[in-house]
Amino acid sequence: MAAGVSQLPTGEYLRHGQTPFFRLPQADFHAPAPYAGAGAVLLGVPYDGGTTHQPGARHAPAAIRRVSGLIHSYHPVHQADVFRKLLTLDGGNVPLPPFDAALVRTVIQREVAQVLQAGATPFVVGGDQTVALPSLRAVAACHGPLAVVHVDAHHDTSGPEVWGDAYHHGTPLRHALSEDLIERGQLWQVGLRASWGTPRRGPSMEALERRSVAELVAAIRLGVGERPLYVTFDIDAVDPAFAPGTGTPVPGGLTSREALQFLRGLKGLRLVGMDVVEVCSVLDHADITCHLAAALLLEGLALRALAA
Ligand code: MN
Repeated sequence: MAAGVSQLPTGEYLRHGQTPFFRLPQADFHAPAPYAGAGAVLLGVPYDGGTTHQPGARHAPAAIRRVSGLIHSYHPVHQADVFRKLLTLDGGNVPLPPFDAALVRTVIQREVAQVLQAGATPFVVGGDQTVALPSLRAVAACHGPLAVVHVDAHHDTSGPEVWGDAYHHGTPLRHALSEDLIERGQLWQVGLRASWGTPRRGPSMEALERRSVAELVAAIRLGVGERPLYVTFDIDAVDPAFAPGTGTPVPGGLTSREALQFLRGLKGLRLVGMDVVEVCSVLDHADITCHLAAALLLEGLALRALAA
């Protein structure tokens, strides 16, 4: 794959009849090294076996691919051509055995590790947030304990007490902490506001209501410093008015503009992996949520491109 290969022109992708993420080149799985030369790889993970309420997130990779075809490479705020700076490939979807949750985690971790072994940064498109754990395991195995920015309405630190299972979409951050995938003191949670049966520590949506996005981002930048940073972005952090297509919506969240500003503000940090999860495209209206997810992914890719 030659450097400088970028998006298919709009007309060409229409003729092509397929829509890879952002009209990007697709990884060639017949080649001995499908990700060779890539700076970033987008991986769809069509899995929603960990949802506790409304399923459907398995359809998100296809739905986000479709609307991402509208997005152009030039980032008007950063004033940078993202995909010219960062050779990005659509790595297709992770082929999953949907009835074996433990094997699903193993397969996802292996696929993300393959992206990392090629020297590329993984951008995982879920799927429910269950997929964040194997992704974090692969990225931490490569980079060591991580700083993690977790944007979500929920803590996602549940145990088996509610559903009788240690693994579902409300648990990945608990495992990531207990497995030391996250450096102590380096979990930055933004957008929390869901109710819970017992008191919980941690910043809430209120922190964002009291402070501007710029102030919040400045504090996180200072705290993270040079550490390798992973961003796990649950779309339900965003208000259901802006992101109706999600399985466990909670009123009172970020606006889509705040979400984009927040990610933009992380410019300069060392992003080593990202996921965007919990888009339930079957509950979406007018593709609002899918468009936002694609825009958030572009923000993440821009962060990585600017550091390239
Ligand atoms: Mn979540």
